Amino acid sequence: MADLVIVGAGPQALALSCLLLQKRPRLRRRLRIVDPSGRWLSRWQRQMEQYEIPWLRSPSPHHPHPNAHALRQFAQSRQRSRQLEGPYGLPHTDLFGDFCRQVISEYRLTDCVLAASVDRIRLPQLGSGPMALTLNDGTTLATGRLVIATGSGTPLMPAWVGEIAGDHPPEALQHSDRIHLPSLLSLRGQRILIVGGGLTSAHLVLGALRRGALVHLLCRRTLKHKPFDADPGWLGPKDLKAFHAEPCMRRRQRQVLEARDGGSITPETAAQLRQAQRGGALQLHDHCEVHSARWCASHWSVRCTDGHGLEVDRIWLSTGHRQGVSQHPLLRQLQEQSPIDLVNDWPVLASDLRWPGSAVHVMGGLSALQIGPAARNLFGGREAAQRICRAVIKQ
Ligand SMILES: Cc1cc2nc3c(=O)[nH]c(=O)nc-3n(C[C@H](O)[C@H](O)[C@H](O)COP(=O)(O)OP(=O)(O)OC[C@H]3O[C@@H](n4cnc5c(N)ncnc54)[C@H](O)[C@@H]3O)c2cc1C
Repeated sequence: MADLVIVGAGPQALALSCLLLQKRPRLRRRLRIVDPSGRWLSRWQRQMEQYEIPWLRSPSPHHPHPNAHALRQFAQSRQRSRQLEGPYGLPHTDLFGDFCRQVISEYRLTDCVLAASVDRIRLPQLGSGPMALTLNDGTTLATGRLVIATGSGTPLMPAWVGEIAGDHPPEALQHSDRIHLPSLLSLRGQRILIVGGGLTSAHLVLGALRRGALVHLLCRRTLKHKPFDADPGWLGPKDLKAFHAEPCMRRRQRQVLEARDGGSITPETAAQLRQAQRGGALQLHDHCEVHSARWCASHWSVRCTDGHGLEVDRIWLSTGHRQGVSQHPLLRQLQEQSPIDLVNDWPVLASDLRWPGSAVHVMGGLSALQIGPAARNLFGGREAAQRICRAVIKQ
């Protein structure tokens, strides 16, 4: 039996594993990490690669090592400080990757990820005792404590997609999750409609333009420019103190949604988009949504809510993910076995991120009612790791 199983081997799980091993080295023997890829940070690496992201959006202290200065020190010791961009030291993607490999090796975690996915959770019948996890190969794993660190939710598809009649080639309409820019060698002359106003849509625009496409970017409001996902006040006590003092979870949820404010792009990316607009390869349609789309044998005929029409070869949906207990296969099971309060599908967790009445903790976006707007980011991973680690040690 394991003392602790972590489901998922992304940056949040890595932050928790390192902190736990730093504080309680003897936990190593009874810690299990499970991810279908069988390795650390597979989804993280894939998303950086698929959108050809040159550097992170988060500042240099945000990473999985317990010491916030460790990434900067790593860069300095290897004469790579110029790979920390601007006043916040945004790490270049390859620097961050090399640093994480070093962290994994420092904490002797390299071969610790079991290649499997957790399909089912059975909580103990009487409230205490081990819980049973069923893996995708049918085997079971018993554990005293569980951490769910499985990252983003399910792709969010706009309603008009469900109303498209007839067939179309799969590559003609794709959610951003499915797009892998390096596999698209040339898009010369292709007309691409990209829907969405977040940073992923901007990376897709730039990737498509580099390949010779003509791009229409459709945003339902004005493109917002911000250095980070949420204002810097949310990455420290300035805004978080009042957030944590707020007893009403509905109000907390409103604050999280307002702070994230839909999606935004960085000022540098905004400048690149403006340049492309001036060059004529990019047309920006703001305050506009797709009303309907029809596949006409070789291209899309799209009608927009502002009344104008577009003819394009591909549509890329950068419309984000839906996060909620009902969208998450494991949390849905927990809610059936041990129901807790939800606020519009978000779980009301205990302050140590425990699913109340169980020994299951939740990291990532669905801990936002406790961690705040940056719960799904690297910052959120560090905060969540601290809270869960304290709970494990106190036991
Ligand atoms: C394009 C893009 C760029 C981003 N850039 C930044 C940035 O610069 N800075 C920042 O702070 N944040 C950034 N983010 C947010 C980023 O996704 C998170 O910071 C980070 O990936 C979250 O880590 P995680 O461990 O929660 O999830 P993930 O990295 O998604 O890892 C979760 C893991 O869980 C596994 N898993 C899922 N279900 C199961 C299961 N049932 N059983 C076992 N394993 C399972 C998955 O396979 C995956 O490997 C970015 C997001 C995107 C999409």
